Amino acid sequence: MFDLLIIGAGPAGISAAYEAKKADVDYVVIEKGLIGNTIYSYPVGLTVFSTPEELEFREGDLDPAREKPTREELLSYYVRFVLENELNVRTEETVLSVTRAENGTFAITTGKAKYSAQNVLFSSGAMDNPRKLNAKGEDLPKVSHHFRETYPWVRKNALVVGGGNSAGEAALFLAEEGANTTLAIFREDWENTDPKQGCIKYWVKNPLEQQLEKRCLQLFFLGKLVEVTEDTVILEDEEGKICTLENDVVFVLIGSDADLSMLKGLGVDTEEGKYGEVPSYHEDTFETNVPGVFVAGHFTNHRHIKQAILVPRKIVPVIAERLRAMRTKE
Ligand SMILES: Cc1cc2nc3c(=O)[nH]c(=O)nc-3n(C[C@H](O)[C@H](O)[C@H](O)COP(=O)(O)OP(=O)(O)OC[C@H]3O[C@@H](n4cnc5c(N)ncnc54)[C@H](O)[C@@H]3O)c2cc1C
Repeated sequence: MFDLLIIGAGPAGISAAYEAKKADVDYVVIEKGLIGNTIYSYPVGLTVFSTPEELEFREGDLDPAREKPTREELLSYYVRFVLENELNVRTEETVLSVTRAENGTFAITTGKAKYSAQNVLFSSGAMDNPRKLNAKGEDLPKVSHHFRETYPWVRKNALVVGGGNSAGEAALFLAEEGANTTLAIFREDWENTDPKQGCIKYWVKNPLEQQLEKRCLQLFFLGKLVEVTEDTVILEDEEGKICTLENDVVFVLIGSDADLSMLKGLGVDTEEGKYGEVPSYHEDTFETNVPGVFVAGHFTNHRHIKQAILVPRKIVPVIAERLRAMRTKE
């Protein structure tokens, strides 16, 4: 019986493991992929938009070559942090189900084993559940909901659909490196400059505008994506005009939502949050209405890495205090 089972080894899960270790809480982290799997899935060579103090577990730990770390520097830091602190992270093991017994403890089944725990922290992110447009042909193999690499698409016709930083960065990488790139975006997203609304950040938008001037990038003000075929995309523009473009690859980058099905199965209530449906949780403890079920990172309204790291510092002391009280009683 673990005191705490943590689902996912992203920034939130690693932070929780580190805090649990310090507080003498007996924990395990179950991670379906690799340590820092979401960061591993970022585009190769990407410079992240946060500064080191927003990304590190201990002040001064992350020391990138430039002002902001690259994907590779960040990933290397997270992996080294887990290894150097000997955190109990089991990788390439997927949590398949979580059920609550009558005595309030949890039974967790993974692809490899069964576990019991007094508390469960859902910190499994949202990367696996990208939003879809549900357009005809979106299931073709040339359509991807993640962007990883630009070089396979040099001199090819690429379409990027989306209005946030991920779509902007993908379009920029592709245009800069020689793909014939079209960014299909709602006009209001392109014209939005409020950084709080998840728009394309100015350090991505400025170079995108340069690519537009050089005619290495085309901008398409989108009404909707009508259909993807083997060698074309059919788009409707903001005035309802249909346009067919030659196409080799499509990236639909319109965000992702955490999968709430396991939480709902446990009886956790949900509500409309800052970015869509989120579990209902206590603002101070991040415990849901089901005692012993906690949420952090992309499962909450505090999604950026900085918050994903800070929230477990509130959760773990609550668990440690309860365990102390329980043990004193015994
Ligand atoms: C391209 C890109 C760039 C970004 N840049 C920044 C940035 O500069 N700054 C910033 O603050 N944010 C950035 N973000 C967002 C950031 O990645 C997330 O906010 C952050 O990863 C959330 O942390 P998390 O620990 O909640 O989830 P994640 O990092 O997504 O970790 C969740 C983990 O859970 C695992 N998992 C999922 N399901 C299961 C399961 N059933 N069983 C076991 N394990 C499971 C996943 O494999 C994953 O490793 C960026 C996102 C993208 C896509």
